[in-house]
Amino acid sequence: MTESLFISDLHLSREQPATVKLFLGFLQNRAPQADALYILGDFFDTWVGDDDTSPPIPEVITSLRRLTDSGTPVFLQHGNRDFLLGDGFMAATGCTLLPDLSVVELGGIPTLLMHGDLLCTDDLDYQRARAWLRSDAFLDDFLSHSVAERIAIAANYRQQSGEATSLKAEGIMYVNQASVEKYMAEQGAQRLIHGHTHRPGIHDFQLNGTAVQRIVLSEWHEQHGALLSICGTGIKTEAVLAQD
Ligand code: MN
Repeated sequence: MTESLFISDLHLSREQPATVKLFLGFLQNRAPQADALYILGDFFDTWVGDDDTSPPIPEVITSLRRLTDSGTPVFLQHGNRDFLLGDGFMAATGCTLLPDLSVVELGGIPTLLMHGDLLCTDDLDYQRARAWLRSDAFLDDFLSHSVAERIAIAANYRQQSGEATSLKAEGIMYVNQASVEKYMAEQGAQRLIHGHTHRPGIHDFQLNGTAVQRIVLSEWHEQHGALLSICGTGIKTEAVLAQD
């Protein structure tokens, strides 16, 4: 039986070295035991382009490369913070980029994978900002700046608006159930796995008369991460703890 691991919302950054260390330990010790690793977005706290080589990026790339070279495939989805992860990063790490909506068959269950921000349709300001940040009008200008300038622009943007504001407004990070059902029905999924909301849990409900499930992944903190393991029809969550 094959085991797939799912993680998201690590928010790796230079400012959180303990989380980076936790992830590198996970890559070395736990991930090689599995048959596949899926990272469902917001892997990095900010991603301003594949030409950014500031710490901890080189170390993360090297460690991911070691895992994929050893035969464990790693699949990545974009999050709202790292949607500029591109071909350069995939080539360097050996990771495979999955589309924002991806269906994989796991234990016979068609499973939709998403970062989760597309499900938060009650937050109209966020969805407007999301569309703008991914538009050619914004990206052509943004990518014309140097790496250092892009990092400064991203930090400035974070302070002013976007997710920072949304995270403070209790409730707005909830998914919209109608949107959940729309995407699952469109994709023919009986299970949905996503992150983004930082509200981990397993939700059972009926979709067109069929029992279906929505699983929300945990975000990672300095001394504590979490993963979801799916092995055949078995599902379990597991803590990822710092090792000395
Ligand atoms: Mn997110």
